[in-house]
Amino acid sequence: MTAKLDLVIVGSGPGGMAAGILAKQQNLSYIILEKGHNPMQGIIDTYPKGKKVYPTIPKRYTQPFPVDEIRPPDERVPVEAYIDQAKNIVDSLDLKINFNEEFKTIEGNHPDYMVKTDKGSYLTRAIILAFGSNIPNDLGIYGEAKTVARNIENPEDYIGINVLVIGGGNAAADVVASLSRIKREARDASSVYWAHIKEKFEINTDTARDLGEEILLGGQIKILQRAVPKIGEVDTEGIDRLYIHQASTASMGNDLYLYQGMSFPMKNVIACIGTHGPSAIFDALHLQQITCTGTICKIAKEGERLLMLSEHHETNLKGIYAIGGAISPSYMEIGSDGMIKEKKHSNLIYTAVLDASTVLENMGSE
Ligand SMILES: Cc1cc2nc3c(=O)[nH]c(=O)nc-3n(C[C@H](O)[C@H](O)[C@H](O)COP(=O)(O)OP(=O)(O)OC[C@H]3O[C@@H](n4cnc5c(N)ncnc54)[C@H](O)[C@@H]3O)c2cc1C
Repeated sequence: MTAKLDLVIVGSGPGGMAAGILAKQQNLSYIILEKGHNPMQGIIDTYPKGKKVYPTIPKRYTQPFPVDEIRPPDERVPVEAYIDQAKNIVDSLDLKINFNEEFKTIEGNHPDYMVKTDKGSYLTRAIILAFGSNIPNDLGIYGEAKTVARNIENPEDYIGINVLVIGGGNAAADVVASLSRIKREARDASSVYWAHIKEKFEINTDTARDLGEEILLGGQIKILQRAVPKIGEVDTEGIDRLYIHQASTASMGNDLYLYQGMSFPMKNVIACIGTHGPSAIFDALHLQQITCTGTICKIAKEGERLLMLSEHHETNLKGIYAIGGAISPSYMEIGSDGMIKEKKHSNLIYTAVLDASTVLENMGSE
């Protein structure tokens, strides 16, 4: 067991990195836990390649950008340059980040919280939850298949391979189009199979346009509608395979069914499993949420549950804070007058960084 820390920060997005920088300035002992391989992994996973990053400050905010190191440059650089900026900061400031380490849960009580990860435990006085808004849906059945929330890191790895993409939304469509383009440009004859459990795909007009263009340009995209994934085949060479059958199976009576399907090595399967908000995680951590009913909420919909936070972003559990995308687009704020009201919180780099500075200011004044 290592010594007790002042602060554990979950996530190395703009919010988590800003918190780390400020913690270091205050000489606090801290660690940032990041489940991905890189700082800003959430941004790497969700921005399309080359997307320009804007240093947007919403109108109602008057404070300047609080942590300069995390501010996207005014000249609107592509996301790759912004990620390089983050990597340089990690190196130059020697920020303490444990990559490839996934936060799981919190045990104990203030001031002796135990943060549990897939690699170990950390005893700490305070915790900042900065894990963003895109929590991948956990569909454990896909085993060693690659599960992605939005983009794949290295589409080139799939050249020469018949690959199966599972999912019916924009994320799957983007992955299908980008894999097909890479294969087509490399004059690769293997295909991208795209399977969805339903009849209809749910994609927006821009994504549909990219996909249509890719098909017309000669992309090898094979669409499998009403395709049901089944797990558990191991072939004669010991390779795990995913079997998918199309729902138009015929019953032969007497509990017998005739299936028609395809089988892919699991490692060639990409499951675009989509994301959900962090409400279930807040529940599991026993953080208080309030359900929107009647006219209480203007931003969140009826029935949605919003995390309750103090003006300093502290949850109902002392020393546990939540910031950034994880609390967007709104949360419930308890004002100093004791009144609780829905507070708008734009999901932007600026707001995540501002939240981090609010928390660290509060911790410093304790
Ligand atoms: C396509 C797109 C374009 C955008 N463009 C802009 C823009 O131009 N300007 C702007 O200001 N904002 C933009 N945004 C919004 C901005 O990216 C977010 O507001 C910001 O990234 C939120 O920062 P965050 O630190 O709260 O969360 P994130 O950036 O989501 O970071 C969370 C981090 O936590 C990690 N994590 C998650 N779960 C765990 C776990 N269990 N254990 C350990 N680590 C974990 C993730 O891997 C991730 O690295 C854009 C968003 C999208 C999707």
